[in-house]
Amino acid sequence: MSVLPIVLWPDPRLGRVCDPVEGITEAIRRQAADMLETMYAAPGRGLAAPQVGILNRLFVTDFTWKEGTRDPQVYLNPEILSSGDETATMSEGCLSIPGISVEVTRPARVHLIWTSLDGARVSQVFTGFAAACVQHELDHLNGVVTFDRLSSDARAAAEAAYAA
Ligand code: ZN
Repeated sequence: MSVLPIVLWPDPRLGRVCDPVEGITEAIRRQAADMLETMYAAPGRGLAAPQVGILNRLFVTDFTWKEGTRDPQVYLNPEILSSGDETATMSEGCLSIPGISVEVTRPARVHLIWTSLDGARVSQVFTGFAAACVQHELDHLNGVVTFDRLSSDARAAAEAAYAA
């Protein structure tokens, strides 16, 4: 496994819609392992493929490792099946926008389906921090970063802070 360089905004690779993962090959397994290692080294709780310059629909998370419980998860071709009506606003950082956290409002509850590394289709409902995290990572697979979720005023302020 290896730690990969993280692509920083405004690299154009962060604005691309990523391609589906077509099969669980050795290259995909290696990519997932490298991305987990990169996420832990960063350190972060989520990392999407375009953040390491690979434009496919794969992201990894570990919501609890910073509290001492490792729970690495790999999501291939994730899709949101449904979202709750209630929203939540959380302060979100991004490994591709280091040093900047912004308030992002998203559905508080999402039902996500994805393929795991062993080929199983998995279905899970996420709430709280995990709901924000999986939506943040899925956004990356669609070429969307936190800045794209802000009002124009909030975005201008965040971009100015990032450039400073
Ligand atoms: Zn991010």
